[in-house]
Amino acid sequence: MNTQNTLSETVSVLRAEQPFTVEMPRCAHYIDGHHVESTGETTEVVDPARGTVLATVPRGGQAEVDAAVAAARAAAPGWAGRTPKDRAQVLLALADALAADRERLRTLEALNCGKPPAVTADDVDSAIDTFRFMAGAGRSTTTVAAGDYVEDITSMILREPLGVIGMITPWNYPLLMVAWKLAPALMVGNTIVLKPSEVTPLTTLRLAELAHGILPPGVLNIVNGPGRVVGNALSAHPGIDMIALTGSVGAGQSVAGAAAANVVPAHLELGGKAPVLVCPDADLDQVAATVAEAGFWNTGQECGAACRVLAHDSIAEALTEKIVAAVAAYRLAAPEIDQENTLGPIIYRGHYERVMAAINAAVDRGAQVLLGARGDDAEGYWIEPTLLKVATGDPISLQEVFGPVVTIETYTEESEGIARANQTDYGLTASVFTRDVATALTLAKALNFGSVNVNTHLALPTEMPWSGFKHSGYGRDLSAYALDDYSRTKHLALNHARD
Ligand code: NAD
Repeated sequence: MNTQNTLSETVSVLRAEQPFTVEMPRCAHYIDGHHVESTGETTEVVDPARGTVLATVPRGGQAEVDAAVAAARAAAPGWAGRTPKDRAQVLLALADALAADRERLRTLEALNCGKPPAVTADDVDSAIDTFRFMAGAGRSTTTVAAGDYVEDITSMILREPLGVIGMITPWNYPLLMVAWKLAPALMVGNTIVLKPSEVTPLTTLRLAELAHGILPPGVLNIVNGPGRVVGNALSAHPGIDMIALTGSVGAGQSVAGAAAANVVPAHLELGGKAPVLVCPDADLDQVAATVAEAGFWNTGQECGAACRVLAHDSIAEALTEKIVAAVAAYRLAAPEIDQENTLGPIIYRGHYERVMAAINAAVDRGAQVLLGARGDDAEGYWIEPTLLKVATGDPISLQEVFGPVVTIETYTEESEGIARANQTDYGLTASVFTRDVATALTLAKALNFGSVNVNTHLALPTEMPWSGFKHSGYGRDLSAYALDDYSRTKHLALNHARD
C-alpha cells in the first residue's frame, strides 16, 4: 500500500492515497421489521480521519420512539414465550451472520471511528463472542433451589424477562457496546428499542440488516437521533421496563432521573479514570508496555484506559523514561494503514476541542509535557499521544479526558497511593503492579473500582462482569451477571397440602 506522510505545522499523519471504500448500510430507522426512512431532519455521519461526510442518517423524534416501543411491546409475549434453546439458536444465527460479515463490519467501524486494524478486529470478534457466550450461558442459569421452605408449600423461582428495554449506546465502541447490551437482554427474552450514538450509527444499522429475517419483527427496533431528543424520549417513555445506557455521567444522570419518574430500573455504564498503582518492586518494563497499550488503546477513547500512573517515588524516574520510550513508538495513522503501533483520530471536532482544552489547561497549571500535547484539525481530528507529568491533585489526574493522554504522578507511602487512587469520583477499573502477592491482594481489596487488574490492565474476558462503582454507574455488562440484570425473579409458592 502506498503511504504518504501528511506533514502539517504540528502533527504528522500516515495516510494511504485511497481511503477505504465500503457499501453503506441502509441509513434508516428499523421499526417492527421495516426500514423507516426519514420524514424530516437528518444527521451527517463524518469520517474523523478526514472530516468528510460518509452518510446521512434520519433523525427520529417522539413519533418514531412511540412506534418502536409499541412494536417492541407487541413482540414481547411471543419472544418471551420461546424456550431458552430457541432463543439461543437465534442468537447463534445472528453471531454467524456477524462473523460472515466481519470484514464489512470492520471497515464500517474503521471509517466511522478511525480505528486502527487491531482495534476493529478486536471489536468485531468480541461482539460475535458476546452473542455466542450469552446464547450458551442463558441456557444454564442458576438460582436458589426449589423446595419446601414452608410445610406443604413448594417454592420455586421463575426467571422472567423485564419486558421492553430501551438501550442507548456510545461512539467509542459502537458495535461492541450494542452486543454487550443486546445479547444478554435478548437471550433472557426481552424486546428492544435501541438508540445508537448519532455520531457512529453505521455498524448498528448494518446489524439491523443482518438481524432482519433472523430476529422476529419487533424484537429489535432502532431509532436514530441525538441523545437530547431520541435518548430523552426513550428514557422517559412509559412503555419501557428498563433503560440501559453506556455513556457519560451527565447522560447517565439524565436517564436515571427519567427512569426514577417511571419507577423502572436503569442500567448504567458511565465514565472512568483508571489509576495504575506502581509499587517499588514492580516489573517496570511490564508496566511501561501495559501503559502504552492500555492507556492508548482506541486512542485513549476508552472508559477503562490506563490513563493515570501513580508511581512510587523510588522508581518514578526510571519508569517515566520507559513509558516515554514505549509511547514514542506510536504513529498517528488513518485506519487503512495496517501497521503496528498506530493511533487513530479523535472522534469529532467537539471532542477534539475538549481534549485539547484539557491538555492546555493542565500545561497552564504547570504540567510538564513529556511527549505530544499537540493537535491538528485541518484534515480530521488528530492529537499526538501525550504524556504529562502532573502535580498531586491536578484536575487532569481526576477527571475523564477520554483521549490519548496519560498522566504520571508520584506517591511515597502505600496508604497515600491507595487514597489518591481512590480519590476520583469514578470507580470503573484500576490496576496494581507488584511482584508481591500479599501486596497485590491488599491493594486490590482497598481499591474502590468494579474491576482491579494485577500486573495487567484492561483484561476483559466475556465470562467476567464489567461494571463500575460510584459515578461510573451500576449494572453489569458481560458474564452471567448481565443475564441477571436484564431479567427478574418471581417467587412462585405452590400449596400442595392434601386434606
Ligand atoms: P454521551 O453520554 O455523550 O453519549 C452516549 C449516548 O447517550 C449517545 O447515544 C447519546 O446520544 C446519548 N445521550 C447523550 N445525552 C443523553 C441524554 N440526556 N439522555 C439520553 N441519552 C443521551 O457519551 P459518548 O461521548 O458517546 O461516550 C463517551 C462516554 O461513554 C465516556 O464518558 C465513557 O467513559 C463512557 N463509556 C463507558 C463505558 C463503560 O463500559 N462504562 C464504555 C464506553 C464508554
